[in-house]
Amino acid sequence: MNDCIFCKIIKGEIPSNKVYEDDKILVFKDIEPQAPVHILIIPKKHITSLNELSKDDAQIIAHVFMKVQELARELGVSENGYRVVTNCGVDGGQTVEHVHFHMLAGRNLQWPPG
Ligand code: AMP
Ligand code: ZN
Repeated sequence: MNDCIFCKIIKGEIPSNKVYEDDKILVFKDIEPQAPVHILIIPKKHITSLNELSKDDAQIIAHVFMKVQELARELGVSENGYRVVTNCGVDGGQTVEHVHFHMLAGRNLQWPPG
């Protein structure tokens, strides 16, 4: 997607603070962190939101969550815990239309979110 900010980050056209990358996903620090650890895990394939996921994407999503588990260990937050959030659509608070998973950790997160 030409005008997608996250696709531009994947292509290196916009800089990011990269945490991890492989052929399927990119992980980078959120530009406006809401917790001491706030990273975004995004598929390299442009998928607009959870609404547009297809069965073919199942492996990518499984890969995201297996990587979350690994990143939690590496970042030292497995024991204290963390939250993984995907916002979908207007009511979900999605502002970037390229599906992404927020991983937040490093403080006691409140529930429910606003
Ligand atoms: P959402 O509101 O769930 O769509 O989340 C979008 C997230 O992307 C927000 O937390 C933003 O702070 C973050 N964000 C937007 N632009 C950038 C960028 N250039 N680099 C890193 N994070 C970004
Ligand atoms: Zn995109």
